[in-house]
Order: sequence, then C-alpha cells, then structure tokens
Amino acid sequence: MVYLDPEPTINRLKEIGAKRILLQLPDGLKPHVFSYFERLSKEFSVIVSSSGFYGACDTGTRDEYGNVDAVIQMGHTIIPNVNYKVPVIFEEYTYPVTDNFVGMDLSALEKAGYRKIGVLYSIQYREGAVKFLEYLQEKGYEARMGKNDGRLKYQGQVLGCNYSPIHDLDTWADCHIILSTGTFHSMGAQLSTEKEVFILEMSEKSELHSMREEADRRIRKRFANMARALEAGKFVVVVDTKVGQYRMKLAEKIMDEIRNIGKSAILAYANESNPVDFQNMMAECIIFTGCPRVATDDFEKYNVPILTAQEFLMIFKKKGNGKYIFDEIVNVDSQ
Ligand code: SF4
Repeated sequence: MVYLDPEPTINRLKEIGAKRILLQLPDGLKPHVFSYFERLSKEFSVIVSSSGFYGACDTGTRDEYGNVDAVIQMGHTIIPNVNYKVPVIFEEYTYPVTDNFVGMDLSALEKAGYRKIGVLYSIQYREGAVKFLEYLQEKGYEARMGKNDGRLKYQGQVLGCNYSPIHDLDTWADCHIILSTGTFHSMGAQLSTEKEVFILEMSEKSELHSMREEADRRIRKRFANMARALEAGKFVVVVDTKVGQYRMKLAEKIMDEIRNIGKSAILAYANESNPVDFQNMMAECIIFTGCPRVATDDFEKYNVPILTAQEFLMIFKKKGNGKYIFDEIVNVDSQ
C-alpha cells in the first residue's frame, strides 16, 4: 500500500513555516498527484515538478528548489550526509510485507554451501527484508544486515551508488541477497563485491537469481570501454550539479591526473548528461563524476568511452591491479 496521508507532512511544513512548496513524485505515484496537490493547496502554494527525477540525490534544478521554502519528495529516503539547500521532506513508502518467500526454493544456497547471508534491500522493501532475514534464521542460516555509512539512512539499505552494508559484512558473509525489483540495485551490488549476490525479485514468485554472470558480462564491457579510453587525447570531466551527485573535488583530482599524463581535459557542468553535448565538444572520452550508473549502465548511448572516476584511475593509474572497482559515492561536496 502506498502511503499518501499528507497530514504529517502538512504539520511538518507548518512547523518550518513553509509557504511555497515544490512537490516531486516518481512516475509510479504521479497518478495520485491531483488529490495530493488539492489537499496541500488548501494550506500552501504548491507547484509540481513534472519532470522525472533520480532520487534523493536530485531535488530538482536550482530554478525549481530555489523558488520554494521546502520540497516534498515522495517515495525516497533522505541521504543523510547531503546538505540540502532547502528543507526536504521525504515521504517514504514501503510495499506491504508478504509471506511469498515462505517455502521458497533455497537450494542455490545449499548447493554452494552458503550459510552466512548478508540481507540487503532497496528502500521499498525494508519491512519485507526484516521478515526475510528472520525467515532465513528460522531456516538455520546466519543472516545479518550490514551497517550503513552516512549516505544511507538504514542498516541493510542500498542505493545504486552506495553498497556500504555489503562492505560491512563482506569478510563475514558467504553471499548476499537483495530484495528488489528489476536489476538496477542488484547489478550495482554484484559490481561492488566479489561475493555472489542473489536477487530476490519482489515482483515475481519468490526465487533467487544469481547476478554473477550478468555482472561479469557488464564488467567485460566496462573493460572494453576503458581500453578504448586509452586512445583518447581530449577528455571532458563532468561534474553533475544535482545536490547529491556533486563531486567537484574528485573532478579536479581527475583533471590533474589527466594533465599529468599529458592529455588535454576540460571541466564541464551537467544536470542531465546528454551524449550530443559531448559530441559537439568533439570529446574523445568523458569522465563522469556524478551518478556512477550513467557510465556503467548507459554507456552504449555515447559514441565515445564514458568512464567513472574509479575506472579512469584503474586504466590510467593501475588502481586495483586489474580488479574491477565500482565507483560508489560515499559523500559529496557542498555547493
Ligand atoms: S547518484 Fe545515481 S544511484 Fe545514487 S541515488 Fe542518485 S540516481 Fe540513484
């Protein structure tokens, strides 16, 4: 059930004295926008962001959030160590806990001899993950949720750019299981660890699917992209201006590294990464320091190699000794 009771949010907005509000809803919640808007409009001046947004790292452009007293973002959870420019009220929602996994096939764990399991989740499945962890324990497994760092609010939670709960448990766990839908979060999880990651796909019958083969294929493509970058002479280092993706210091470090290897580089801002913009600049390689998934997931949209900062350091500075390093965001710079 989607939680859309506006009253707690209205109380919070009154407490902070907000009058003008920006409302951000993910596509799945947009069908509720009329009723929500009408209720809020009885007390505040509200404007809805009709464009898509990426998550708690993205409170809209400065033109949008700069003209309001507060932002309401639905469906996501605060990134605690981001310095939001205006108060942001995050309305979390979680899908109902089901007992779908009772009696599910755990033979993949048995066959591999996995007994110590790290349990992870994307935010909508937080309650289900707690139940699933208890279920594994009842079945005789050791199951834990790893500690989160400052970019995550909850233990066991992941973002597509942060898997700190995996790293907390990685020496202890035999494998990890992530409750999610689609492969966005589970792919990132598998790219971030050498331990096997299984997805417990929540939109289907409860089954465990290993992410290993798919992640290996992705890593091979990433290495091919990195190899092409070796030939490049003109680099564009991109800083994403979204409040939760802004890594200027990292971009400046990469600029220095590029100059040190005798190649030319320019520093560029982007809010939406558009391949055509970089084509127009005649870029031969893009180093994207915002969301790491732009490079790892969308690289086929670009006619030149696009790398994360970690990938740049791997290929040009031999970081990681040939082991793939997924670029995770631990914290961002204040703008
Ligand atoms: S930086 Fe990317 S992965 Fe991280 S929260 Fe934003 S959109 Fe998601």
